[in-house]
Amino acid sequence: MDHRVKRSIRVAEPVLDGNEALYVMDCIQSTWISSRGTYIDRFEQLLAEYCQVPYAVVTNNGTTSLHLALAAAGIGPQDEVIMPTLSYIATANAATYCQAKPVFVDCEQDYLSIDPERIEQAITPRTKAILTVPLYGHPVDIDPIEQIAQRHGLLVIEDSAEAIGALYKGRRVGSLADASSFSFFGNKTITTGEGGAITTSNKELADRMRFLRGQAVDPSKNYWHPEVGFNYRMTNIAAAIGTAQAERLDVHVQRRQEVARWYFEELADSEDIFQLPRSAPWAQHSYWMYTVLMRPESAVDRDAWIGRLAQEGIESRPVFYPIHTMPMYRERTGSYPVAERCSRLGINLPTHGKLTREDVRYVCHHAIATWKSLYRSPTQTVRRAA
Ligand SMILES: *Cc1c(COP(=O)(O)O)cnc(C)c1O
Repeated sequence: MDHRVKRSIRVAEPVLDGNEALYVMDCIQSTWISSRGTYIDRFEQLLAEYCQVPYAVVTNNGTTSLHLALAAAGIGPQDEVIMPTLSYIATANAATYCQAKPVFVDCEQDYLSIDPERIEQAITPRTKAILTVPLYGHPVDIDPIEQIAQRHGLLVIEDSAEAIGALYKGRRVGSLADASSFSFFGNKTITTGEGGAITTSNKELADRMRFLRGQAVDPSKNYWHPEVGFNYRMTNIAAAIGTAQAERLDVHVQRRQEVARWYFEELADSEDIFQLPRSAPWAQHSYWMYTVLMRPESAVDRDAWIGRLAQEGIESRPVFYPIHTMPMYRERTGSYPVAERCSRLGINLPTHGKLTREDVRYVCHHAIATWKSLYRSPTQTVRRAA
């Protein structure tokens, strides 16, 4: 393959090659385009079955679904919610919308999940829940966290937006916590354009989420609202796309896992310069994003590297900035060295179901070549300075 022939490779792309168009057309022809219609139930059923739980509640995005889960679980003012600092901003914002306080914990550097060893020291009398995030598709080691939660009487909620299809000890992400939130944004493993869902085995919680999702209307007295609710409903059109996506969930997950296998093959000889994604023995990774971390001694500037990849037509993205570094969550007390290092050294390479073997080879060739072109060994740097 000639790597000089420039390609254009996006970091994420939806795959809409099932019944999506058919079902959307059905919504339009039947005029059921708003938030009532049969696709809502069908999508919820498929999600619940796939996640091995009795209930799924869909919403209009993965931020509202997480907010809805926390609100329905009774998280409120003065409560504290323990969560990893290395996540997407929505994880912390959802707690803030409840007027609760996000309490950040560092991650471990193998799977980029919350470090279970550091959870207990973050617990106070105000702690209500532990919010875990299976980052980039690797499940969280939930058993020790569940034990901590039980000892202290806390809820465990997962922001599993990135991990549909992942397995923990043979159990599906979505069935591991009191409630698990998913996102169906356009770059996620399955998409509805914008969309979200919560899965749970708790009927009371599912009922409460349905109630709050639809402006808390009294089921037996229309237009009577005994509480402040939300309009977080998904449209039937979005659910139509979701139904078609969910019918082929296994395929969507397998395609990503195949892309990850190609990355591992192409990068096998680069482990001295990159830390490749790791999978625990108890985990099946769903590879929402294939993530590489430059080795700690790397003198390469991450953003410069992203820029060089872009010149080759390869879109990539930085590992999330730790949430405790954002202006509204800035903290001076905690210490989060692992999250800060992973963020500084990490990028997500293109990961989606339309990539070909040749695309992955092209990405890896340029990932290595651009990294090397930017690399100055520490001795070279010293010599240049002198
Ligand atoms: C995508 C994502 C969400 C939800 O995002 P929306 O764009 O609101 O659907 C929440 N948490 C994490 C970790 C995510 O990656």
